[in-house]
Amino acid sequence: MDENIDVIELDEDCYISAGWIDSHTHCFEKFELYADNCEEIGYRQGVTSVIDAGTAGADNIEEFFNSIKECKTHVYSLLNISKTGICAQNELADMTHIDKKAFEKMCKKFPRFILGAKVRMSQSVVGENGDLPLYEAIQMANQVNLPLMVHIGTAPAQLETVLKNVREGDIVTHIFNPKENGIVSHGKIKDCVFEAYQRGVYFDLGHGTDSFSFDVLDIANENHIQVYSISSDIYFRNRHNGPVYNLSTTMSKLLMRGYTLEEVIDSVTRKPAKMFHLDKRGRIEKGCCGDFTIFKVIHENKEVTDSTGKKVILSQYIQPVAVILRNEYIKL
Ligand SMILES: [Zn+2]
Repeated sequence: MDENIDVIELDEDCYISAGWIDSHTHCFEKFELYADNCEEIGYRQGVTSVIDAGTAGADNIEEFFNSIKECKTHVYSLLNISKTGICAQNELADMTHIDKKAFEKMCKKFPRFILGAKVRMSQSVVGENGDLPLYEAIQMANQVNLPLMVHIGTAPAQLETVLKNVREGDIVTHIFNPKENGIVSHGKIKDCVFEAYQRGVYFDLGHGTDSFSFDVLDIANENHIQVYSISSDIYFRNRHNGPVYNLSTTMSKLLMRGYTLEEVIDSVTRKPAKMFHLDKRGRIEKGCCGDFTIFKVIHENKEVTDSTGKKVILSQYIQPVAVILRNEYIKL
């Protein structure tokens, strides 16, 4: 055998997939409101690529970029349309925070780091500005030819407004949130949800502290509405205290409620890579990057909680055991 080839012996019950991608995280550590360390939420949890969803804006994206330069985990950013980023909860309550020129300039300056735009469309974020930031965000994403991730929550904006206006290939995150302005009304999926789903709008899980409900997931399953990408919306508080803890726990919740293992893995590899045009990630193929996640499916009971406090006992869960990242085999 060629002596330059490393052989890694794995247990028989191990699976190997392309390196996992978490498409909604927060890892610009300076902004403590929603922040975490990219290695803690990254490779140490079996996640080889993390996408920060709008923690930084044009004013501080360079600082964010410099802060993650040395990281093992691949880190990417969705640039917040507010130049301030999420330095406070209401980054879009002041429309002067939207600086289109600065936004464009930064997208051009960091083309391999910035994969898209982010706008948080909920009442606590937009204040008196209603739907306006949504329209600005779509225009700005168009201008730089990047996908837009829209966070949904309490209106405004109304869910209907978001889903009717986003473009094919845009991403709506927190899709299974339990709020009144969510995808379910009186036990039924709203019509605008089916329309957007069929039109090719991507639905992202974005579990987070407040944004995932088993009941909404169950109703979506009954209606054949699946998330395209499974993401955690992780930051230090919901990692330490739950209900998120890590991406694999989020994946396990979907595995136990209607999704096959193949679908779950596809939603953290090939699909998020496609969503954000990461052409060399998310697949095990000649010409792709050599990032891998090695994991097991543990057949033991585990209690998990959604964002409403509902507890469910899983009879099996996904457990990452190692990653191969930047030519290094790292046991977890
Ligand atoms: Zn988030």
